[in-house]
Amino acid sequence: MRIVIVGGGIGGLSAALALRREGFEPQVFEQAPALLEVGAGLAVWPNAMRVLSKLGVAEAVFERGGQLKRARWLDSGGRVFKHFSFEEDDAPAVALHRADLQGALLRALPPDSLHLGKVVRGYECARKDVRADFADGESVNCDLLVGADGLHSRVRAQMLGEERPVYRGYTVWRGITSLEHTALAPDTATEIYGGGRRFGIGPVGRGRTGWWATANEAEEVEESASEHRGKLLRLFGGWCAPVTELVEATATESILRTATYDRAPVRPGGEKNVTLLGDAWHPLTPNLGQGGCMALEDAAVLARCLAKCGDADRALRRYEALRYARTATVVRYSRRYGAVGQWQSATAVRFRGALLSALPERVGRSLLSWVFDYDAYGVDV
Ligand SMILES: Cc1cc2nc3c(=O)[nH]c(=O)nc-3n(C[C@H](O)[C@H](O)[C@H](O)COP(=O)(O)OP(=O)(O)OC[C@H]3O[C@@H](n4cnc5c(N)ncnc54)[C@H](O)[C@@H]3O)c2cc1C
Repeated sequence: MRIVIVGGGIGGLSAALALRREGFEPQVFEQAPALLEVGAGLAVWPNAMRVLSKLGVAEAVFERGGQLKRARWLDSGGRVFKHFSFEEDDAPAVALHRADLQGALLRALPPDSLHLGKVVRGYECARKDVRADFADGESVNCDLLVGADGLHSRVRAQMLGEERPVYRGYTVWRGITSLEHTALAPDTATEIYGGGRRFGIGPVGRGRTGWWATANEAEEVEESASEHRGKLLRLFGGWCAPVTELVEATATESILRTATYDRAPVRPGGEKNVTLLGDAWHPLTPNLGQGGCMALEDAAVLARCLAKCGDADRALRRYEALRYARTATVVRYSRRYGAVGQWQSATAVRFRGALLSALPERVGRSLLSWVFDYDAYGVDV
């Protein structure tokens, strides 16, 4: 089966690896001329580490990243609302630089399966196969096309229509620094809440700390790289250590700023030999750190469905049905978690603090375990 994957991000590369594990030889077409070390810290939760383990790259990811053994939620003054340790599991939670994850996936693939500098402009379905057309005028025919081309996917736009993703009302800034500070909690994912603002901290391996910050603002607000640090120091001035210390220790040009989007869950459809994967299908807000993890799960389930059922049409519809149920729930869950996290009024902030403090640990654990315990290689395809 000739398989073309559009996009060489986490989703596209992991789909290529998962398909190779099942005996297929997919080709990945990526628009960027080179895969650069862009991005910031990324959490890889146990549901995704399970997939990476089957793909043979869990060890490389574990070595480069920092393990997350605990989570805690604080107010901006440093008072702890809730904290708990993750249970010992078959798969750890790890945070690392996105480029380290991408690099580990890339090294596990044969170099000739990735084609850089190939911008897919669209595709054409014929009776038997699919033709992918590139901006350089070339094209390639395949039996199956997977759109793993991210939030602004061309494949999705052609399949489901040109609809803009939905802005969720807040901006995220992310940075990585090597600051040493006594207030940094080892092996811990920390989330700190204020009015309409949050700050997150976690180890990302090799002595580095990753941080993220959110603030409610209009989608149109523009900000140059030279302004990031100053703006964050104003927004988070007076918060508990080491919030401003982390921002101060990060070069302003290296801070990434992203608007927060997702899309209403929908099933891919209409084309029998074309499907979607990762953000191209179900982009989610970053609140649960699950976007990349969902793409990894997709990759495993897609490959398993194709391996089990030789007929591409049936395999793709089975994949879509299995993944729709899960991803739609995680997209909504992430959106709600973010909406509560961004509550701004003093009353709402007090109410949220009281809720977090009163939340029984077993309820918190069961919400997390619903996301973390999923095993894409254990699902009945
Ligand atoms: C602030 C923030 C924090 C996040 N934190 C986490 C986290 O902690 N954990 C986690 O799991 N996820 C996290 N995510 C989400 C995660 O980054 C994404 O869900 C994940 O990268 C999606 O992977 P993807 O391969 O589907 O898409 P992408 O990574 O966007 O890759 C798509 C690829 O397709 C290529 N492409 C696009 N169009 C074309 C075209 N026409 N032709 C050819 N190639 C094309 C692009 O160049 C790109 O390489 C976060 C996201 C944000 C914004």
